[in-house]
Amino acid sequence: DIVYLDGHYIPAGEARISPFDRGFLFGDSVYEVIPYFRGTGFRLREHIARLEHSLRAVRIRSGRDWYAILDRLVELNGGGNLSVYLQVTRGDSGSRSHAYDASLEPTVFACCAPVRDFASVAAKDVKGLAAIVTADLRWHRCDIKSTCLLPNILVLQQARDHQADEALLLRDGLVTEGTSCNIFLVRQGVVYTPKRSSEILGGITRELVLELADENGIQYQEADIDYDALMAGDEVWITSSTRGVLPVTRIDGQPVGDGEKGPLWARMFELLTRYQRRLMTGE
Ligand code: PLP
Repeated sequence: DIVYLDGHYIPAGEARISPFDRGFLFGDSVYEVIPYFRGTGFRLREHIARLEHSLRAVRIRSGRDWYAILDRLVELNGGGNLSVYLQVTRGDSGSRSHAYDASLEPTVFACCAPVRDFASVAAKDVKGLAAIVTADLRWHRCDIKSTCLLPNILVLQQARDHQADEALLLRDGLVTEGTSCNIFLVRQGVVYTPKRSSEILGGITRELVLELADENGIQYQEADIDYDALMAGDEVWITSSTRGVLPVTRIDGQPVGDGEKGPLWARMFELLTRYQRRLMTGE
């Protein structure tokens, strides 16, 4: 495995980062996860734009050629289906102090992991997920893709402790998103998803699903979803770049709708799969 660290492409085992790096000490850093399917970045431009948004929001310097860095890294790792992780920290302060010097050189790290192409699975073989609903313990800038993921980690583990796959988060009585995914609800043929705000991450797949809904005459609304609405949904889906769109068929031990994968999910899965295949074959 070859990783990228501050201008160098090196074997993962040779990568060294200072313990005084602010990413390590404070989680003073942002990141992206970008799947490449058959060597092609999935909505690469949108991912880079979101990275730039995160960097600007926390005032970490940018100015790198992200495209060149990632393309080379993917090539060195053999292309194919890879999930690329890219992290930018504020840099190495040389000592532990909350205050930072604006002239610090950011630390840039990127690595690859294998990922399954969600479009390579037939709808009938996709498993419905179980989720729990729990309090959203995160801060109020969830639009920033920050590496401070302790709340996400803790509630995902809580879900695992209940034999569930995901935790859906509630803030002030409203559903925000999952620990690493956005959420959609279907009621009487209409798709609902929380509107973009600083309480959720503007998911790349969320945006694409809304685009596909638009293009294909599927009715949708960006609207508040409370716990009762969630539990009364005919279908619930989650979306993320690595997972695509997946059906949630049990929430807090109760079946969602009839407890089966829903027809609108199957439609959206098909649309997303088709989009994804077109992207890979360049048609
Ligand atoms: N929400 C959170 C908190 C996430 O961490 C992620 C991605 O990992 C998403 C939503 C989905 O975003 P995307 O579709 O860009 O992968």
